[in-house]
Amino acid sequence: MEKTVKITFCGGAGTVTGSNFLLEIDGKSILVDCGLIQGMKVADDVNWDPFIYDSKKIDVLFVTHAHVDHVGRIPKLINEGFQGKIYSTKPTKALALPMLEDTMGILSKNTDKNLDKIYSAENIKTTFSLWQGFEYHEKIQITPELEVSFLNAGHILGSAMILFTYRGKKILFTGDLGNSPSPILPDTDKVTDIDYLIMESVYGDRNHESRDDRRKFLEQTIEDNYKRKGTLVIPTFSLERSQELLFELNELVENNRIPFMPIFFDSPLAIRLTEIFKQYKSYLNEAAQKAMSTDKHLFNFAGLHSTLRSEESKMISTVPNPKIVIAGSGMSTGGRIVHHERHYLPDANNTLLLTGYQSVGTPGRLIQEGLKTIRITNENVEVRAHIVTLTGYSGHRDSDGLINFIEDTQDTLKKVFLVMGEPKSAMFLAQKIRDNLGLDVSAPEQGQSVILTF
Ligand SMILES: [Zn+2]
Repeated sequence: MEKTVKITFCGGAGTVTGSNFLLEIDGKSILVDCGLIQGMKVADDVNWDPFIYDSKKIDVLFVTHAHVDHVGRIPKLINEGFQGKIYSTKPTKALALPMLEDTMGILSKNTDKNLDKIYSAENIKTTFSLWQGFEYHEKIQITPELEVSFLNAGHILGSAMILFTYRGKKILFTGDLGNSPSPILPDTDKVTDIDYLIMESVYGDRNHESRDDRRKFLEQTIEDNYKRKGTLVIPTFSLERSQELLFELNELVENNRIPFMPIFFDSPLAIRLTEIFKQYKSYLNEAAQKAMSTDKHLFNFAGLHSTLRSEESKMISTVPNPKIVIAGSGMSTGGRIVHHERHYLPDANNTLLLTGYQSVGTPGRLIQEGLKTIRITNENVEVRAHIVTLTGYSGHRDSDGLINFIEDTQDTLKKVFLVMGEPKSAMFLAQKIRDNLGLDVSAPEQGQSVILTF
């Protein structure tokens, strides 16, 4: 007898952030991710609208990875009575704690929306009491006919695609897909035999520079800034981009590829997360593991200063140029980067290097689009610094990479659903998939449901 499976695109449809999907399968209600929508301001009101499902009725939440746009609304789910189980890989569980605590530090100050009650220490504690970590490829039996496992997504430490096998057919949620080869992570697992694919599409309409090119660009950007005797400011995501950049800078410094200058790693969250990378070293690629066994100081090379305390952070502006400052947040919506941008953007000798996706409406996106005056902490700041974008350090697959990923399982695919991309990017990729691979593809809208027959 045929059975049906229903997928509802509750979040992350037509937009990059806010990943949240409901899968109703074999009598179970299962969520994939419960992330924050990140836009103009982090407390974007739409995050606090009621979920379109009853949180109390969810049996299991599967988490693809620890970025806030995939885990940031878990405390809200708990607050609304979720009592099911939370499953992820082991490193994702370890990384999610500092990520959620950091989010709590920012959002719980907002008492008008009761965010202090949602992001309470109690709700964070409950979250982790329900959370269980698994290895990649370990089989998790949900019902006699439904089995789930985590495949390596190669996007950040512990990141996973979630594979549901039901009555012999396979549904795969990719989460964010890595831009392999990464300097420190193993490549994304190759997948075959998938029937239904729910795939990210952040860079569906663009290709990145190659790995060699991106390293050359980084080196060139550092050298140009050195010659101008400026400060190179790099807003970066605390999780993964920071550690990859440190890894690349470590290599450039140790091979004398760049002139010596102080490098400030000015992100308490990233410093804390870097310690977890050391604990979960076996999840890194061979090159990174080898480098870590011979170089105990990986992520901690000559010239690097990790500025944990805010007094140390304030001292950075007194250090003469040239220098490099790496700070969060990655889209300049908050964190220490904001103060550095206010200080360094007005000077034409300085450089701002953008290495990750900048969400629509964020200060990072406005600067990237060439705005000459930007509002930072209630002040107008002139942008005269050089603005450089380097997408090769993105943690996401580019357009061709996404097509190659699908090609491996093209023969069995019945339908592709494109999610986690701006509409322009998803539409472009959808057309490319239809034209090049002849597959059935759609880019669902927020709240839309589809029924699959098994
Ligand atoms: Zn991510």
